[in-house]
Amino acid sequence: MGKLGFIGLGVMGTPMAAHLAAAGHDVSGFDLNADARAKLEAAGGRAAADVADAVAGAEVVITMLPDHPQVEQVVLAPGGVLDAVAPGTLLADMSTIRPETSIAVAEAGAAKGIRVLDAPVSGGQAGAEEAALSIMVGGEAADFAVARPLFEVFGKTIVHVGPHGAGQVVKAANQLVVGGVYGLVAEAIVLLEASGVDAGTGLDVLAGGLAGSRILELKRKSMVAREFKPGFRIDLHHKDMGIALAAARQADVALPLTGLVAQLVAAGRSMGYGSLDHSALLKVVEELSGR
Ligand code: NAD
Repeated sequence: MGKLGFIGLGVMGTPMAAHLAAAGHDVSGFDLNADARAKLEAAGGRAAADVADAVAGAEVVITMLPDHPQVEQVVLAPGGVLDAVAPGTLLADMSTIRPETSIAVAEAGAAKGIRVLDAPVSGGQAGAEEAALSIMVGGEAADFAVARPLFEVFGKTIVHVGPHGAGQVVKAANQLVVGGVYGLVAEAIVLLEASGVDAGTGLDVLAGGLAGSRILELKRKSMVAREFKPGFRIDLHHKDMGIALAAARQADVALPLTGLVAQLVAAGRSMGYGSLDHSALLKVVEELSGR
């Protein structure tokens, strides 16, 4: 594989780009944050001066940005990815954004002969660091086949789920399940503690039974210890609950529990916890109980 351009070197992008560099790929990356660029250099990549510099001459470009305005800025704006790469280049946008933006990016790419995939991920910071991400991919099967060996460098479960935008719909489904599970684990902790039962011991039992989940496995100890360093910020999960509810409206379905979880996440933001990890839903549930 020739040169790779990587834009967005945050919590997720940094370890993903580092895995690609460690696997021997020629990675040029850009992030607005100078510390992030320095981390890429330390991992064996090249820190580019701007988006156009990062993607010039790339065969494949990966973007891992917060939300659709940043994707529009980096990909569609003058001097962005679509202006700077040659026809035939493949762009895999791995950010979590609304499906309609993924479809618009794919259409804008097609008009310039640039192939586009939406390829959001699940697995969190730990999944990125351990090269164990789940990747849900929307777009053409032939383009998926080209990108798959790269995705295998940092992913474990890699599935082509449908046409452009389908990856984002699967990610929205993922996020409503993740938010719901965090909310319920938070409620379990509040109930256990308020009843005088040791929450850590109680959750150890839950983790081994039918209630067990990856969230209980990875996060129960930090939640009970009230360690909420992100990880995945409540602000980003708020964005994702909005995407899920908009997708539900688009599909003309009712998702009542998703609506409730979205309000819990929104409360986390209004209580000032937006920059904490989404496991800080525990603080929201505690405050609702006056604890
Ligand atoms: P982050 O905020 O840590 O990283 C985003 C990076 O993009 C930042 O370093 C920021 O400086 C950079 N950036 C923003 N605008 C830019 C621009 N115009 N040009 C260049 N760089 C720019 O976010 P993250 O946690 O890495 O998440 C990235 C995406 O992945 C989001 O869509 C998020 O929803 C999704 N995601 C995150 C996790 C997680 O656990 N953190 C898990 C799965 C999916």
